[in-house]
Amino acid sequence: MVQQLVTKGYKPEKVLAYFEELCKIPHGSGNEEAIAKYIENFAKKKGLFVIRDANNNVFIRKEATEGYENAPAYLLQGHTDMVCAKLTTSNHDFERDALDLYMENGWLRARGTTLGGDDGIAVAFMLALLDGEIENHPTIECLFTVEEETGLGGAESFDYSVVTAKKMINLDSESEGEVCAGCAGGVRSKIDFKPTLEASSGDVITLAVDGLFGGHSGVEINCGRANAIILTSNMLSEIAKEQELALVSIFGGEKDNAIPRMCEAKFVVEDSTKAVEVIEKFDAQIREGLCESDAGLKISVSVENDVEDVKTLAQSKELLDMTGSLKVGVLAMSAHLEGLVEFSRNLGVIEVNGENAYITYSSRSSKEEQIDLSITQVDEQVEKIGANVRHTGRYPGWDFLPESDLRDTYVRKFKEIMGVDVQTVVIHAGLECGIIKSRISDMDIISIGPNMRNIHTPDEALDLDSCARLFEVLKAVLSEK
Ligand SMILES: [Zn+2]
Repeated sequence: MVQQLVTKGYKPEKVLAYFEELCKIPHGSGNEEAIAKYIENFAKKKGLFVIRDANNNVFIRKEATEGYENAPAYLLQGHTDMVCAKLTTSNHDFERDALDLYMENGWLRARGTTLGGDDGIAVAFMLALLDGEIENHPTIECLFTVEEETGLGGAESFDYSVVTAKKMINLDSESEGEVCAGCAGGVRSKIDFKPTLEASSGDVITLAVDGLFGGHSGVEINCGRANAIILTSNMLSEIAKEQELALVSIFGGEKDNAIPRMCEAKFVVEDSTKAVEVIEKFDAQIREGLCESDAGLKISVSVENDVEDVKTLAQSKELLDMTGSLKVGVLAMSAHLEGLVEFSRNLGVIEVNGENAYITYSSRSSKEEQIDLSITQVDEQVEKIGANVRHTGRYPGWDFLPESDLRDTYVRKFKEIMGVDVQTVVIHAGLECGIIKSRISDMDIISIGPNMRNIHTPDEALDLDSCARLFEVLKAVLSEK
């Protein structure tokens, strides 16, 4: 067994020893070959059935132990890639260096960088189980996928014909007290067009919205946070009700999958005094409806009077009609689970200037028909502007099943071992489970994982006591006949 230093004294020893080994092998998204080879070699040394495909997904099968030959097989699954994020002060090279691990009050961390507990702990769990950490078990199949963090590419490309299991435990969740039983699918709609320009003159106003909280466009879409692009375009539409408005430019948002925190629009009107009044009135009204985290909202305006010959967008009205018509935020709540968002849309980025126009929407739902509906709605608006649209990166959701034997077993074993109830949740974001469910439609799936904090950031931390507890529950589930 490998020498164990940083996590010495913590359990489960074999899991943590493997985790420390993995941390020595760089494994950012797209750079999984070395870790895939490590896993493949592990399997060969143990004499296990193993496949490493052309994309470096790895599949291993360990046959049932005596007495479990007729028990249904399990598929365990996690991803080998990690998000590479570091402090600006860190010299870490994610292509070469081992992570610099340390403990902090029972939590494992990496100095200055992400830890890759997401999802290295899944890999370590699987290797330890395959390495004899479980005495009695049915056939265990383990799937280690690549490029989860950059669009679920590994799960998408894997050939599932080798899988025999009909029960699957995904190990890519981050909260010990929860068992995940469904996730959203999604699609990104990238809209672009060549602006038609015309000459305008009048007062030029620059309107800037800033200081909103933003957040993840999936899991935080129900927090009531305002979208800076929508606030801006709503103000422009209000002004346009009273007088003609021509856009010079509009920029907002940074990422498709984040709620935009800022937006800036430049436009021409005849009467700037009236327009500024509308903005001030809007500003006063909007604050009442904002959630607490958006209290930092700042709306600022500057005016240049009587400007001649400004290039403006001929499609200004159509563009504002589009941002006004395509509702964003929560579009439908689940009928099965209280408080769960079923269907949402985010307007993530807008960049319109004299040369280019680019807008992205991302839609999420656990139901395919709602994703289809969102695509149709976007298409209708796009046609009115005469723009192009590409609906890309579509991935299927995993719809909540009211009945699941696997979930029942997990809930029961969790209670037996932990003494408390585990909470069943469905998340409004993508997991590889959606893709696997779409390939093996009768697969019974849950997703679990030990407590982690601040994943995808240099503050990522993994709770080792939680790992030990969760590993016991996992073994108990697998050992049940
Ligand atoms: Zn993950």
